[in-house]
Parts: sequence; structure tokens; C-alpha cells
Amino acid sequence: MAGYADRKHPHEGVRQDIYAKALALEDETGKRFVMVTLDLVGIPRNIADPIAERAAKEHGLARERLLLNCSHTHSGPIVGMRERTSYRLTDEQEAVVARYSRKFVDTAVRLIGEALRDLAPASLTMSYGNAGFAVNRRRVTAATRNFPGPVDHDVLVMAVNDVDGKLRGVVFGYACHATVLNDYQINGDWPGYAQEEIEKANPGAMALFVAGCGADQNPLPRRSVELAKTYGRVIAEAVGQALRAKMTPLSGPLTAVFDRVDVAFDTMPTREEWVRRSNDPNINYATHAKKMLAILDRDGKLMERYPYAVQVWRFGKGFTLLALAGEVVVDYSLRLRAKYGFNNLWVASYSNDVFAYIPSLRVWKEGGYEAGDAMIPFGLPVRFAPSVEETIVGKVEEMMAR
Ligand SMILES: [Zn+2]
Repeated sequence: MAGYADRKHPHEGVRQDIYAKALALEDETGKRFVMVTLDLVGIPRNIADPIAERAAKEHGLARERLLLNCSHTHSGPIVGMRERTSYRLTDEQEAVVARYSRKFVDTAVRLIGEALRDLAPASLTMSYGNAGFAVNRRRVTAATRNFPGPVDHDVLVMAVNDVDGKLRGVVFGYACHATVLNDYQINGDWPGYAQEEIEKANPGAMALFVAGCGADQNPLPRRSVELAKTYGRVIAEAVGQALRAKMTPLSGPLTAVFDRVDVAFDTMPTREEWVRRSNDPNINYATHAKKMLAILDRDGKLMERYPYAVQVWRFGKGFTLLALAGEVVVDYSLRLRAKYGFNNLWVASYSNDVFAYIPSLRVWKEGGYEAGDAMIPFGLPVRFAPSVEETIVGKVEEMMAR
């Protein structure tokens, strides 16, 4: 199972089915778009890129018109062959992950094709609800309580209605980790229960969850099935209230931009420093350092920049869905939505490549897990350079202008 490094063995059963779901859209210019939502902790680019390449070849879908988003449930399977130092898998378990990952790519590509074949006339509307269970997790201990604790409690609601006005689909989003549960049962955590509740309340409609900038947000309190179901009901109720109220029509044409920007890592330790760290009594640090030494031996250097994926979908001249890679802290959502208008922009994270935490400069300066410590479980060399926020925001601004 993916998400927590301290699980000791594979899953024991399935509490709730998990899903890959797709929403295909075609605008009045005939351009086609597909959003795929996944009940997974994340997918790395070596899974997302092959899906995108095959979707282009087999379904004629350009990269910018395919949006892949992960719910970040910590109770799903590992997908992706990217080596991570935090999961200590046996060779046999790695083979299972590799086999499942190959099957997953095939399934995702097939799903995209099925969604495109199921296109039918429809109208799109959007609105926001509100829900309050996401807590800024960086300020919940006595030592960190003096940190500011920003949150973004908007619940994105996009509705797809057929020509008779019947609800066919709901895309909903919220900025919070899916970490209520940490046992050995497969399930979608609160986003899974929210999807289930929304679909129960709206027979015939499919509910797709898009994760927001919840990298520093936890659902609190947590750790019981009842709480996961409760938060699912809370989100479903927020979505239901928005659906019953006046929604804003979304118009075409739908325009999309996809690009990558190089985000620099901070100063690298010397080889001697890695050798020293490889003897660290902390097994995680030692394992990480040994991996970095192995890369140094093989390649002569470590990765100095990461090609960070940014995607923009704009509906007509109005609402824009921005999809960012990695686990993005809430500061990005608040900063960009303040700049472009909270009504006009919603920011998804965990999109197209989930490979690291993305701190703001504020979080970077404060330090801690999201600031850089999480690079160790992610198997990347060091924290990002302090320019990370300006690099990404600058790229977003350029793409929004495009
Ligand atoms: Zn996370």
C-alpha cells in the first residue's frame, strides 16, 4: 500500500473499491479533453507520461488536453516503478508493483478511450461550497503552534447536465490530505466516501474528486472509519448544497496549456558528506545517502533541477482550472486565487506527476517535513532552492497569459 512508510506488510483486504474515472469534454470547436481522477496516493511521471503518449497515439489527445489527478488516498496501492527509499519492498513485492503498474497504464488508456466514445450533448456549470475539516497540520503541535495556519476551505463543484437537465457528473475538489485511515484495508479515504455519498444522492451521476493544494492540510481529528465516512458526508453535503443553489454556467471554447519548468534543487552535499550520512544511525537517512552515492557512482552527478509540470484549462474567458504537479502547500492556492480571483480560479495539486512536496518560500524558511525533509522518503537529493515559489508562480503567470 502507498502513502505511509511504516506499514509492515501488504494489504489485508478491501474496505471500499477504488476507482479511475474519466470525464471527456468536447467544446464547440471540436477539441476534446479528458480529465482522469484516480483514487491513488500519486502517480510519478514515468506512469503519467506513457499514459499521455498512448492517449495521443491511440485517441488523438494532445498532452495539454489530458489532465491526470490523484486523490492522495493513503489506503491505495503503490503505482509506479520509481524507486522510493521509504518503501522497503522485497524483490517479489517490487515485481507485483511493476506488474500492477503496467496493467494500470493499459487500464487508464482504455478508460480514456471509453470516455471519449461516450460523449453526448451536455452543459457545464460550476460553483463553490465550503467545508471546514482541513486543518493546517504544520501548526498542530506545541512546538509549531506559533506558525501561521492558512487553509483553503472552498469546495470546487462542477456539474455536467445532459440536454434534459439530468445530472450526469460532478467534479468536486478540496485541499486536504486523504489520511484519515492508516490500516491495511484498501479504500479511498474521505474522498472515496465523498464520491460514494455524492453518487448515492444523485443516481446516474458519476462523482470525480480532484485534490487541491492540501500538502500541509490534514483531516482532523482522524484515524477511524467513522471519521472518514463523516468527512465524506460533509463534502457530499457541501456539494449537494452548491448543486441545489444557483450554479454559474461555463462556456467554451476550452483552452489548454501544458508545460514544464525547471525547479532548482538547493546546494548539494559533497561526496564526503554523503559517505558520512550513509553511516547515519537513522536508517532512512543512511538508506537515502547510499542511494545518492549509487547515483553519483553511476551518473557522476545528482539531479540538479526537476522538470515541474504545470497545466491550465480555461473555460471560455472565465473559470480556470490550474493543475500543478507534486504535493503543493496551500500558500500557492491562496496566492494565485487572490491574484486571479477566487471565483475565477481553482488550483488542483497532485496532478500529472506526484514526485515531491512543493513548499512556498514561507514554508521553506520555516523548515520541517513539507519544506524539505520529505525529499528523503521521495528519494530526491536535497530540498529545493528557495527560488521554488517564484519559479513556479512565474511559470503559471506566463502560462495564464498564453
Ligand atoms: Zn502527502
